[in-house]
Amino acid sequence: MSGKIQAIRGMHDILPEQSPYWRQLENTIIGVIKQYDYREIRLPIVEKTELFQRSIGEYTDIVSKEMYSFTDRNDESLTLRPEGTAGCVRAGMEHGLLYNQMQKLWYIGPMFRHERPQKGRQRQFHQIGIEAFGMAGPDIDAEMILICARIFKVLHLNDVQLELNTLGTPEARRAYRDILVDYFNDHLDKLDDDSRNRLETNPLRILDNKNPAMRDLIESAPSLLEYIDSDSVEHFEQLKSLLDDGGISYTINPHLVRGLDYYCRTVFEWTTDQLGAQGAVCAGGRFDGLVELFGGKPTPAIGCAMGLERLVELVILQDKLTDEPPHACMIMAEGLPVRHGLKLAETLRDKLPDLRLMTLSGGGSFKSQFKRADKSGALVALVIGDDELENQTIGIKTLRDKEPQFSLPVGELSDWLKKTLAAELNLS
Ligand code: ATP
Ligand code: MG
Repeated sequence: MSGKIQAIRGMHDILPEQSPYWRQLENTIIGVIKQYDYREIRLPIVEKTELFQRSIGEYTDIVSKEMYSFTDRNDESLTLRPEGTAGCVRAGMEHGLLYNQMQKLWYIGPMFRHERPQKGRQRQFHQIGIEAFGMAGPDIDAEMILICARIFKVLHLNDVQLELNTLGTPEARRAYRDILVDYFNDHLDKLDDDSRNRLETNPLRILDNKNPAMRDLIESAPSLLEYIDSDSVEHFEQLKSLLDDGGISYTINPHLVRGLDYYCRTVFEWTTDQLGAQGAVCAGGRFDGLVELFGGKPTPAIGCAMGLERLVELVILQDKLTDEPPHACMIMAEGLPVRHGLKLAETLRDKLPDLRLMTLSGGGSFKSQFKRADKSGALVALVIGDDELENQTIGIKTLRDKEPQFSLPVGELSDWLKKTLAAELNLS
C-alpha cells in the first residue's frame, strides 16, 4: 500500500488553532453545570450493541441506520456510543447510583453516528450532557432548562431559542399514534418516501419531517396535545409557569417529538438560525421509563445534551471567545548553553502558574527568533544574549509597541511580568 492515510470521512481533527475555543467553551459550560452541583461521570465509548437497541429503539434513525457496530474478537456485537444517556443509565444501575436516590450527573465526550456528513453534522461529534435521576416534579425540568439558558447567557449567545413540547405518557402517545396513522393513511398520496417508511415504524417522527412539500399535511395533522393525559398536562402547565417565573421565553412546538423512543412528557430543543440547516444546539427531555426498561425500579429521569461542534461554530461566528497566544516568548542567542534558558523558564513557571511562556527551542538567528515570537502573538520577548548571561540580566522587548529593548536583573523579572501582565494573568 502506498499513498497518504487520511482521517475517516465525517471525523475531524481539532487543530491547535481551534482547540483554545473548544477548551474555553467546555470550561465555561462545565463551570455553569457545577454551579448547580451536578457531578461528572466518565463512561466508556464502546458499549454492547444491545444497550442502544433496547434503549433508543429499533425503529429510530440512530439504531436502524446510524450506529457504528462491529463484532469484536469474542464475537460480541459492540457499538461506538451514538449518545450518552444509555451508557449513563447502564452505569448508574450497575453501580447502585440510581436505586432510591437522587443523582445529578454530567458527562462530556465524543459520540458516533454514521450520518451524511455536512456542515454541523459529523460522524464523530462531541456532546456535553446532563442527567438528573430520581426527581419526578416539573422543578427539575425547569432546572435543566435554566442551566441551558445560563450557559447560553454566559457564552453571550442571544440568538438561541427554546422550543418546548410534552409527549405525555407512553400510553397517551400510543393512543395518539393510532389516530395519526389513520390520518396519514387517508393522505398516503401526499407522503414522501421517508414518511411512508416511518408510517409503519415510527409515525410520530413524520411530524418532524422538514420536507416543505409535506408542511401543509403536517400542519393539519391532529395534535398530540389533545390526547395527552391530564397528569402530564398539569406537569407541563407547572413547568411553563416555572419558566415564566425564571424569565425564560419559549415557544410550544407540538411537532417537536424527538428522535428517541424513550422520551415521555417534557421534551425541548434549543435552536438558532445562525447555523443554517443544522440549527439545533441542545436537545433533551424526560425519560421516566428507561431505568425500568433496563430491569430497574421505575425511576423518573430527565436529561439533555448539547452539540459542541455547533456551539463552537456559533461562538466563533459571534466572536465571543478569544484565541490564547503565549504571553511571553524566550529568545536565546545561538551558541549559549540552553540549560540556562530552560532553568529560567522553569523558575518563571513556578512563580507565575498562569503565564503562557513559549521557549523558542531550536534556536536560529536572533532575527528569525524575533520573527517567530512576533508571529506567535506573544506580548513580550525575553531575550538572553552574551551580555545578559554574563551580567545576570534579561533583555525585555515588548512586541506590541515600538518601545526600545531594555534590561532588568534576572531576579526582578517575575515581578516585572506580574506587574505588566496583571490583567492577562488574572492578578488584578
Ligand atoms: P439533529 O436533529 O440535528 O439530527 P438529534 O435530534 O439527532 O439532532 P440529539 O441526539 O438530541 O440530536 O443530540 C443532541 C445534540 O447533539 C443536537 O442538538 C446537536 O447539537 C448535536 N448533534 C447530534 N447529532 C450530531 C451530529 N451528527 N453532528 C454534530 N452534532 C450533532
Ligand atoms: Mg439526528
